[in-house]
Amino acid sequence: MTTCSICAGDRQTPYVHHDGYDYVTCLGCGFVFLDPMPDPERLVQIYNQDEASITAGSYPKAASRKRRAILRAMKLMPYFFGRDAIDVGCGGGFVVNAMRRLGARASGLDISAPAIAYARAAFPRAAFYEEDFKVFLGREQQFDFLHSSEVIEHIGDVNGYMRFLAAIARPGARLFMTTPDIGHRVVPDTVTDWDMLSPPRHVHFFTESTLETLLNTHGFDLVKRYYKKNAPTLQVLARKR
Ligand SMILES: [Zn+2]
Repeated sequence: MTTCSICAGDRQTPYVHHDGYDYVTCLGCGFVFLDPMPDPERLVQIYNQDEASITAGSYPKAASRKRRAILRAMKLMPYFFGRDAIDVGCGGGFVVNAMRRLGARASGLDISAPAIAYARAAFPRAAFYEEDFKVFLGREQQFDFLHSSEVIEHIGDVNGYMRFLAAIARPGARLFMTTPDIGHRVVPDTVTDWDMLSPPRHVHFFTESTLETLLNTHGFDLVKRYYKKNAPTLQVLARKR
């Protein structure tokens, strides 16, 4: 028996079998997840393989990442200007750099050594931490703005991840989170044609409803949804109670 991370229900139905992995759908809430869930060590191993092309001097598509990060930060600036901000899963530090340039005291956290080496070399005026959540919690830092883009779908223990975000968020802090949207109208009917369906990298998929439930469980209220008509992505702003 597997317990749903979102609603704690224990009934699932097969969703799709792909590349040797099985996704199931929770009959209680519609959350889609890998069952069995791969070991966290295995997920870190895959993540490191995917990061193999990153060095201190080079990051794939750096110029366009930098440009997109500035555009996103402009949209979110009211929530971090003059405040303490962090990008959790910051990769090469593009969003951290953008938030710093637009007035935040900005930090970035990632477990990838080459990504953080790149970030430190490219953006020496921001603070970067190459460590896991447990170690970072020991710093007892808290923030007014948290950015978490395309991270949660890689982490098997979603409740552990949300507990971490809640622990580093001050009351009233804003959280901007993005993740693929399996409920979006442009997801192909034959879901195996969807490039986001890439097990075991993406270990689960949210809809607006399952993401909102998870946020609420961990003390965040959904404030705003940024709907992209042609991109199957959930982009939400939430507020820590
Ligand atoms: Zn459920």
